[in-house]
Amino acid sequence: MPSAARTADHFADPRSRWLGEFVPIIGTNSPSSGGPKPAGAAASQTTTPKLTDAADPPCDHGPVDLDLLRSTLEDLGQPRFRFDQVWKWTSEGAKGYHEMSNLPAKLRDELTERVPFSTLTEVRRAEASDGTVKLLLNTHDGRPIETVLMRYKDPTSHPNRRGRRSICVSSQSGCPLTCTFCATGAMKFGRNLTAWEILDQALHLRRIDALDHCVFMGMGEPMMNLDNVLEVCRRLPAVGITHRRIGISTVGWVPGIDKLTESDVPVRLAWSLHSADPELRSDIMPVNDRYSLADVKAACDRFYEQRRKMIFVEYIMLGGVNDSVEQAQLLADLLEPWKYKINLIPYNPTDSVYDGSERDQMEAFRQVLEDNGFNATIRLIRGRDIDAACGQLAAKAAA
Ligand code: SAH
Repeated sequence: MPSAARTADHFADPRSRWLGEFVPIIGTNSPSSGGPKPAGAAASQTTTPKLTDAADPPCDHGPVDLDLLRSTLEDLGQPRFRFDQVWKWTSEGAKGYHEMSNLPAKLRDELTERVPFSTLTEVRRAEASDGTVKLLLNTHDGRPIETVLMRYKDPTSHPNRRGRRSICVSSQSGCPLTCTFCATGAMKFGRNLTAWEILDQALHLRRIDALDHCVFMGMGEPMMNLDNVLEVCRRLPAVGITHRRIGISTVGWVPGIDKLTESDVPVRLAWSLHSADPELRSDIMPVNDRYSLADVKAACDRFYEQRRKMIFVEYIMLGGVNDSVEQAQLLADLLEPWKYKINLIPYNPTDSVYDGSERDQMEAFRQVLEDNGFNATIRLIRGRDIDAACGQLAAKAAA
């Protein structure tokens, strides 16, 4: 996001119930508050995660994708440039083949018949007064996915400039990692999304507005589906989103981070850290037992050495759990301020045992980080007025 991930203003804070609430967050704002709960509160909820490197049960690819488009055009004896024509229209927001005026009418009809225009079906749409739009989409095999568009005013109010248009996309339906504060983690894991199902989320949103930023902060762990995520990243510039404006967020899935470091795609990296105390982190994020803080830190450092791009650290503020000044000091001791930019995230309450931190506590936490030389931001929440709508979307999806 602005500098990729959740930094400045564009991070969706996915989930709350079911599919995740995707409450986009920006700037500073009052976190939800509530009585602090004991630090061990999460432990009873923790389940042993089933972690596999290949969280990719076999799935057929659904009705359509760019491969199908290519093979259909070949089948129809069309010249190669037809594929590029169709993709150009699609990536620039066309709503169907009928708009593609430089294609012969017969070909438009044939494509309409043989290659469905999206791998996803739009089930619901909710729009907040601040311009945030959430879509509930279904895959061909009925897997629900939420995706979000966040629109911002140009901070300079310059008449010829437009504000940022940032999207938050899902890489899996459900998630196998069972983080205890995360509603998606409580869902049954569905499957990895195909590259085309991820790309189609962006294309659905592109039909609503021009886009310029993307974060992989929707449902799922992008590093467990990295080949597809990278394939999508390679296509996003055509949709208006350059690589430097893409952020991939991870719990700290080390093989994925290393693969990203070695890849040819210069995107930004965000690490969902949430506690620098190993025991507490294991309580709230069971994946910590598989990849320790030290291992993940080393992988992030390798990413930094290779790319020289700051890494964004996401830190959800859970009242009375991970928000003490001692926890802040542990975090400061773990990271280097020139490599890591810390984003403090007001917790978006779900059905979990947690409450968000008190405002004063968040400030005290931020102050410790600042005293240690870090640039730390507390996020603002956007799209509040469609939270309820999201609940409704999810309830429908679950019915
Ligand atoms: N699996 C990846 C990407 C998806 S989660 C990851 O964990 O980074 C994207 C971000 O939303 C993560 O930082 C996650 O911890 C955070 N998140 C999940 N549930 C939340 C909630 N209820 N309130 C605020 N942030 C939440």
